[in-house]
Formats: sequence, structure tokens, C-alpha cells
Amino acid sequence: AQQSDDMPVVQHQPQMQAQTLEYRPDYNELKLALKNHEFFLVYQPKFSFPSMQLQGLEALLRWRHPLRGIVSPLVFIPVAEQTGLIAAIGDWVLKAAIAQMESWQREDGVDISVAVNVSPLQLKDDGFVARIKALLNLSGIAGKFLQLELTESSLIEDPRRAHSIIAELRSAGVQIALDDFGTGYSSLAALQTYQLDYLKMDKSFVQKIQTRQGRSVSHAIIQLGHALEMQVIAEGVENAEQEAALRALACDQVQGFLYSHPLPADQCRLFMLQHCAA
Ligand code: C2E
Ligand code: CA
Ligand code: CA
Ligand code: CA
Repeated sequence: AQQSDDMPVVQHQPQMQAQTLEYRPDYNELKLALKNHEFFLVYQPKFSFPSMQLQGLEALLRWRHPLRGIVSPLVFIPVAEQTGLIAAIGDWVLKAAIAQMESWQREDGVDISVAVNVSPLQLKDDGFVARIKALLNLSGIAGKFLQLELTESSLIEDPRRAHSIIAELRSAGVQIALDDFGTGYSSLAALQTYQLDYLKMDKSFVQKIQTRQGRSVSHAIIQLGHALEMQVIAEGVENAEQEAALRALACDQVQGFLYSHPLPADQCRLFMLQHCAA
């Protein structure tokens, strides 16, 4: 519960209904959801400064519940983690994201990088790296098009293991992002020992960037990322003032409702085709 976005009281997305913490699916429900193909991915575009070129997508998980409509991952990911189902669900997400990349590449000629969120528990599986490599090989997608978003807790619990997993993934070309940066407990000393490609500044910082102090904190985070040779991605950008502040602070990439909500695959495809044609 260390993350700032763990309170799904209000969902701003039109297709996702307001959900309270009262709904707690159980193991059997989630297992059935997987079996019945009720999970799907939506994709949110990321853009780079200064050109605002489309840089990649983040895959975000959704559950189309037969009675409740679209359920937020903030509701069911914690349950999946507590019940061990995250292994199967996480594997489904990887498979689905890579299959989607393959289809966009084959049918539309679009080479786009996709970032997938990875639970700390998935990294505990000894077969994780081999599985990623197998999925990439099978699809013919180059490793460099896959980004994995890890959280700080993935790095600190078993640092030796995390180091070797990250080294192996990066040698396969896979890019690593540190998600929700600033909300976890990792020390700067620990962070400095990792080679990571991207630092994702948590949206709670973006929300405060219009205050003098908030701007200074964002500035410090961006400078830290750059000092550690990472590109910094700001998530949750909702207005032009936040964008201007991030641009002035030399943030590298932006993502948020200002540019696009997460989109279902077919809408995302049209978005990319328009963007590439432009
Ligand atoms: P996250 O990885 O930090 O993802 C960013 C969240 O911010 C997403 O919520 C996204 O829809 C939302 N967001 C995007 N732009 C804006 C904006 O401008 N303003 C605001 N207020 N929010 C914005 P979402 O999709 O509900 O996902 C919530 C969390 O669930 C994710 O946070 C991630 O931790 C987790 N999650 C989502 N998909 C997966 C998955 O496939 N596997 C795992 N393990 N976790 C996932
Ligand atoms: Ca993420
Ligand atoms: Ca976040
Ligand atoms: Ca998060």
C-alpha cells in the first residue's frame, strides 16, 4: 500500500466505472475470469520532448466483468498477488502484449515499443527471463521493442537476484523502466548499483509540479535520473501547465490524459496510424 495510486475511489476514465474498495474479488472469480478471457489490455501512448513524437505505449490491464463492467487493476491486482494468481495473469499479459505487437507489425507495418507492468512476485519465478526470451523468439519481436516496468520493491527485496535478472534481460535488448519512482523505499545507494533505461516519475509529483516546492522536487528527480543515465518519463500529465513545467525541466517523455487515455487495441491502432501518417 506504499503507492500513491492505490485508492481507486474515482476513476476518470469514461469506460471504467467508479469503484470503491468494497469490491474484493476472490481467487475463484479471478481464475474464472482468466479462463473465460475476461481480461484485456488497453494501451496508453507516450511522447518525447521536444518533438512530441510517439515514443511507445504502456499496456494496462482491464477486466471486463460480466456484471460489474470494466474493473480497474487497482481492485484485482492486489488480490492476484495475494492468491498467487499473478503468475498466470502476468504471463497472460506478457503473451497478449507481445502478440499485439506482432500483429501491429505484421498487419500494419507499425514497429512500436510496448511497456508491460511486472509484479515483484513475477520476478521470483525462476523461469521468468527464459519465458520472456521464448515469447520474443516465438513472435519474432526484437527485445528492444519490449519494455518492462518494475517497481522499487522488485529491486530491494533480493538485490543480487534483481541484478542478474536485469542484466540478462538487458542483454536480450529488453528495456527496463523503474515505475512509480519516489513512492517506494529504495535508497539512492541501491539505485545507483542498477543499470536501468527509464525512470518513471510517479504522477503524484506531476500533480504538485505547479507549486514552487513541487517543481523543485520534480527538478531533483529529473536530475537524479539523468545523473544515473536514465531517461525520465513523467506519468499522469493532465494539463498544459504541467507539460510546460516538465518541458522546462528537461523531462524526456510524457504520458497522460492530456495526450490520450489508455485505448483499446483497435482504437490504439487508428491512433498510431494517424500519428505515423502525420
Ligand atoms: P501504473 O503502472 O502507475 O499506471 C499508471 C496509471 O495511471 C494507470 O492506471 C493509468 O490509466 C493512469 N493514468 C494514465 N494517465 C493518467 C492521467 O493523466 N491522470 C491520472 N490521474 N491517471 C492516469 P490503471 O490503468 O488503473 O492502472 C493502475 C495500476 O495497476 C498501474 O499503475 C499498475 O501498477 C497496475 N497495473 C496495470 N496493469 C497491470 C499489469 O498488467 N500487471 C501488473 N502487475 N500491474 C498492472
Ligand atoms: Ca506502469
Ligand atoms: Ca504510477
Ligand atoms: Ca503503480
